[in-house]
Amino acid sequence: MCIFCEIVKGNIPATKILEDENCLAFKDINPIAPIHILIIPKKHIENFAEADENTITKLSAFTKKVTEKLNITDYRIITNNGENAGQEVFHFHIHLIANPDGKLDRR
Ligand code: AMP
Ligand code: ZN
Repeated sequence: MCIFCEIVKGNIPATKILEDENCLAFKDINPIAPIHILIIPKKHIENFAEADENTITKLSAFTKKVTEKLNITDYRIITNNGENAGQEVFHFHIHLIANPDGKLDRR
């Protein structure tokens, strides 16, 4: 069972921010900054390395829409690729991190 697939299906609750036919954005359950959103393809793909160009393009464009909806211009986007890079959920996701009221910590 993949936890993010369960969120896509609606079997596990999440605070959704934006959704289209291919992508979903929802709040990270354990935020490291005032804004911490996870952005995923609805289709199960393990990580960035496994993602095809079309998925990456759509997810990137969707990420911009999320920043527009949140009205943020300054943010960090991160994807952890592989266990040794800190990947814990093996469903491709981009972390969108921001602090609208000040600077983000270096990491
Ligand atoms: P990563 O370490 O890059 O795989 O990131 C996984 C992220 O998923 C972590 O920041 C977790 O806090 C987050 N996370 C895990 N389970 C949930 C959940 N049910 N809802 C929202 N975020 C979650
Ligand atoms: Zn999945």
